[in-house]
Amino acid sequence: MKIITFSKNVFIPLTNACRNRCAYCGFRSDDPRIMDRAEVQKIFREGKKKGCKEALFTFGEMPESNEKVRRQLRGWRYSSVLEYLYELCEDALKHGLLPHSNAGVIEKQEMKMLSEVNASLGLMLENASERLCKKGMPHEHSPGKRPKLRLKVIENAGKLKIPFTTGILVGIGETNEEILYSLRKIKEINDRYGHIQEIIIQNFKPKKNTPMQDSAEPSLHKMLTVVRAARQILPNMNIQVPPNLNPDTWQIFLSSGANDLGGVSPITKDYINPEADWPKIEKMKILTETLGLSLRERLPIYPEFIKKDWYSKKLEELIKSYIDEDGLVKT
Ligand code: SF4
Repeated sequence: MKIITFSKNVFIPLTNACRNRCAYCGFRSDDPRIMDRAEVQKIFREGKKKGCKEALFTFGEMPESNEKVRRQLRGWRYSSVLEYLYELCEDALKHGLLPHSNAGVIEKQEMKMLSEVNASLGLMLENASERLCKKGMPHEHSPGKRPKLRLKVIENAGKLKIPFTTGILVGIGETNEEILYSLRKIKEINDRYGHIQEIIIQNFKPKKNTPMQDSAEPSLHKMLTVVRAARQILPNMNIQVPPNLNPDTWQIFLSSGANDLGGVSPITKDYINPEADWPKIEKMKILTETLGLSLRERLPIYPEFIKKDWYSKKLEELIKSYIDEDGLVKT
């Protein structure tokens, strides 16, 4: 039976400070906060009790660009958010959770450091078109969304043999050609390094009080076309569609090329899309099985990368304690 995977996680929105201003973003704030260590540890404890295996860290890019966050980090004696993140990842491992961090555009050396305590890293490409950074376009005020920078990060992950998650955001004003161009760019890098473990095909959702609050969401037809195109361009890739952003239609994507439902949390919200509740895992299982497919839990590092030993020694014991002979979470 064909297997569909998901990861049971806790979502940690470490800080909503960000140097970028994407026109669709409802997450970043001009008056940001940063979670303290006790707050994060509380989530680890609750997640562990509920059987979560992944700690997903997401935060705005270069949050130290905000004076308030910089001051807070200094007060806690951290010189950067990545130094703080490293310690939180170590805490997560002690609680039995495998970190996956989305740290934005960072340097190769920083990625190397984070890979010591992360099962995988991630960065959405969003789209590889420079046009989306021009005046009046969604990434006009987001220096970190320049495709060249993001492609460089994805490439550096390959050089470092870091299992990597990336993806595209559909419906932000891009053309069909730009979607295909983005998927081909991802393929090109993956052909060289073989390190991309999954591609997320994410549908844009308008957020209140943002410049794109009245923009239309991509249609189901468009999303299905993109998923099919991704499957064609990358026949062996894991393709993920977030079920909480497609609550009534996610099943259809499984029949059109998607084979992963991403991180699903029994205790924390999707803080980037707080209006979109996660489906219940039991319900996901039943609905997947009605398609003749089998739903299995995976770790934030996919089985193919566990087999290749693409993880740090610090993670070995924990990874091995969770998996069966196929590299999926023991049932
Ligand atoms: S979408 Fe991400 S990068 Fe863009 S402003 Fe929001 S937090 Fe920053």
